[in-house]
Amino acid sequence: MSRSVLLEEQILSLLRKMRTPIPQSQIAKMLNIDSRLVSRALARLARSGKIRRNYVTLNGKRLLVVYPVKTVEEYADIPYIPCLLCPNLNKCGIGQEFDPTKCEKLTHWLIHNSERGS
Ligand code: SF4
Repeated sequence: MSRSVLLEEQILSLLRKMRTPIPQSQIAKMLNIDSRLVSRALARLARSGKIRRNYVTLNGKRLLVVYPVKTVEEYADIPYIPCLLCPNLNKCGIGQEFDPTKCEKLTHWLIHNSERGS
């Protein structure tokens, strides 16, 4: 396995452990690796669809955060969100007849699945 592939695996492993998007600038520090090498590895991972990078604004600062894209197998472990089979889906939205912020089925699903993920 080449050094660049090893670095990509190392980064993916770190991102999966973190469970939340992390600033790109933190990855090199956390792995104690040259930031240019990390930046190139992240670009390759993004091109291959294994990670996503998005800008977010935090305390007025624009940050580039990185997170892994889940595989089909990882998604298969999560039960389907109730909205997919809900007969009220077309009438559901904030301020509409059915409101997701007040929906017991969705709230129960979110609580149950957040406990599974921790
Ligand atoms: S939030 Fe509730 S009511 Fe709305 S689509 Fe999902 S399950 Fe149905």
